[in-house]
Amino acid sequence: MVGLDERLEAVYVEVTRRNPGEAEFHQAVREVLESLSPVLAKRPELVECKMIERICEPERQIIFRVPWQDDKGELHVNRGFRVQFNSALGPYKGGLRFHPSVYLGIIKFLGFEQIFKNALTGLPIGGGKGGADFDPKGKSDNEIMRFCQSFMLELHRYVGEYQDVPAGDIGVGGREIGYLFGMYKRITSQYESGVITGKGLNWGGSLVRTEATGYGAVFFAREMLAVRGQEIEGKTCVVSGSGNVAIYTIQKLSQLGARVVACSDSDGVIYDESGIDLPLLKQLKEVERVRIEEYSERKKDSRYVPHGNIWEIPCNLAFPSATQNELNGRDAAALVKNGCVAVVEGANMPATPDAIRTFTEANVAFGLGKAANAGGVATSALEMQQNASRDSWSFDYTEQRLDHIMRGIHRNVYETSVEYGSPGNYVVGANITGFLRVADAMLALGVI
Ligand code: NDP
Repeated sequence: MVGLDERLEAVYVEVTRRNPGEAEFHQAVREVLESLSPVLAKRPELVECKMIERICEPERQIIFRVPWQDDKGELHVNRGFRVQFNSALGPYKGGLRFHPSVYLGIIKFLGFEQIFKNALTGLPIGGGKGGADFDPKGKSDNEIMRFCQSFMLELHRYVGEYQDVPAGDIGVGGREIGYLFGMYKRITSQYESGVITGKGLNWGGSLVRTEATGYGAVFFAREMLAVRGQEIEGKTCVVSGSGNVAIYTIQKLSQLGARVVACSDSDGVIYDESGIDLPLLKQLKEVERVRIEEYSERKKDSRYVPHGNIWEIPCNLAFPSATQNELNGRDAAALVKNGCVAVVEGANMPATPDAIRTFTEANVAFGLGKAANAGGVATSALEMQQNASRDSWSFDYTEQRLDHIMRGIHRNVYETSVEYGSPGNYVVGANITGFLRVADAMLALGVI
């Protein structure tokens, strides 16, 4: 761990004391605090008004029971969460995650990251996150629907277009958003499109929202490489995961002339020397919803490695796009050894602190998730704009808006890294830019 100055260390110790057992939340807070020393030196008033302590404390945390019945009639009880972290810049905004590993510490880490990510987009959205310890794997459509309906029966009290606007995340895609929105509409008797994003195209959704996080990460990578006089075309890439973010990262990389040779799920890795066959991957993951192993059954010149390590595959660019802490110091060393020049986080906090240090020391360009994967939430905000104006934009126009936003995020983050003496350090640049935007708004709003 990097040492913190005395004031920041005291804040960190207090955060760990007040939030025991929430390792991921502690890690996310520590990563931001490690960037903030030079800010406090320049802006002592932020210390006096306890700005960091205030930002580390969620405005509101909601935990609720989600009972539901499976197809055999058996009852189950899950736990639902919504952490409304910070609304200085706009209504809380952030996805819902359905995964058995979900507990308060995961939702708080994601919500905390979301505050700064949303600030980086320059759009009027605060930060929040939610979810449940529900495992959608192996559940029927009807079971998923009943779970989503029960979840919304409680959550509806706390969300709204001007209050809190959820979206998808791991385990929550278009199908789940449909069931959630349907139940909200029924309970409230209102067609409030702006209450949730990631909607279907014929009922209030936005073109490009499905693709946005992956596309945005690749746009961000393109800007990072341009700073170093390089480009995406001709690069060999690996993309971990095979969900929403991974699929559209692979798609945009292929469109820009790169070759993606590997992707994964939590059971194993697919290696395909000729480049991942995207129509096949989409058919397997978006239509049939089967395991990635099936890819090698259908494409005989590819290879499936059960429990393989994707980071040991030689590549120029790596896009961790699955889950938190999926890339550790040893993995980072393997990537560096094999000649990787840039790592871009599609997922939230996929690289451990050790891994980030390894990349920084080896001068590998490292795109922090808060900046690099902000395209998803930015396009969610564009979906809200379209809902508010009863409009729908074309694919090309929306993609241009996304591209423009990602260029802007890159430029601001890069310039901040230069201003604070760490040129090209996107961790420092993203944390400071996001923090200052939120802190300045909170200063203006008084002690609330
Ligand atoms: P999905 O549920 O669509 O996909 C997640 C993918 O990651 C699945 O293929 C899953 O495989 C895989 N995975 C999970 N754990 C592991 C693991 N330990 N090793 C390898 N693969 C694993 O989620 P998303 O694509 O939406 O989200 C991925 C990440 O991106 C998350 O960190 C999320 O918070 C972040 N993110 C998502 C945004 C979005 O717009 N969707 C926006 C910004 C960030 P399996 O089926 O085996 O679980």
